[in-house]
Amino acid sequence: MSDCLFCKIIAGEIPSTKVYEDEYVYAFKDINPLAPVHVLIVPKNHISGASEITSENSAVVSKIFETAARLAKELGIAEDGFRIVTNCGEHGCQSVKHLHFHLLGGKQLTADMG
Ligand code: AMP
Ligand code: ZN
Repeated sequence: MSDCLFCKIIAGEIPSTKVYEDEYVYAFKDINPLAPVHVLIVPKNHISGASEITSENSAVVSKIFETAARLAKELGIAEDGFRIVTNCGEHGCQSVKHLHFHLLGGKQLTADMG
């Protein structure tokens, strides 16, 4: 999608700090980290958000969770624990309309999900 920030990052048109890439998935450091480890994991194909996941495009979601588990180990947060979050739509405070999963860890996160 030509006017999508994360599509531009995936295409290399906007710089990012890449932590992983394969045929389906791109992962990079969040520009405004909320925890010592804050990585965004996104599908390379544009999906606008969690409400647009279907039986046709959902295979990449399992790839993203495989990536999250592996990165959590590599980044040293698997043992103490971490959080995976996706925000969707206005009430979910989604600011970038390309499906992304936040991988957060490296400190004690709060239980407040609201
Ligand atoms: P959300 O608010 O769930 O849509 O998350 C969007 C995330 O993208 C935020 O945590 C931002 O800090 C992050 N973000 C925005 N622009 C960039 C960028 N150019 N590089 C890396 N992360 C970004
Ligand atoms: Zn996109």
